[in-house]
Amino acid sequence: MWSRRARFCPLCSASLVTREVGGRPRVRCPDCRFVLYENPASASAGLVLDPRGRVLLVRRAIEPFKGAWAIPAGYQEADEDPPAAVVREVREETGIAVRVVRLVDLIHVPDDARKPANVAVFLCRAEGGAPCPGHDAAEAAWFALGELPRELGFDNGPRILGRLMAGGDLHDEVRARP
Ligand SMILES: [Zn+2]
Repeated sequence: MWSRRARFCPLCSASLVTREVGGRPRVRCPDCRFVLYENPASASAGLVLDPRGRVLLVRRAIEPFKGAWAIPAGYQEADEDPPAAVVREVREETGIAVRVVRLVDLIHVPDDARKPANVAVFLCRAEGGAPCPGHDAAEAAWFALGELPRELGFDNGPRILGRLMAGGDLHDEVRARP
């Protein structure tokens, strides 16, 4: 667990210890009683469609899944809500401006090497811009559903992009959005 690598209390800087708290071993501070709980991070991902029904993907330049394609996603800042996070992340990673249509999935990722996370997946409509990769993306591009890349990272294959293949509902929703 990532918390085992923490050495010092973020509140009082005392050396942390591992003790049982609430029925499981947790890293805590012996001085100020701070407990480092292992909570998942919050992340937002964008299932972005353009007027032609293509989906926006980025090829990852960093681990995990370096070299694989995935929908744009990133961790939420503490002062932004999940829809704001997806709008920012998509623009940073791809250069594309989007409008959020609705939440389509919430995925718990317990085994990410960085940190466990809950990923909110938002259906988004592309509003403008040309694909241009950001700092942690090697490429950004539109893909027709019949021509998706083979190597897809995270749960992007069956769980997320599979929805698009299954029917036209999501495309209709994006087109109908004023
Ligand atoms: Zn402390």
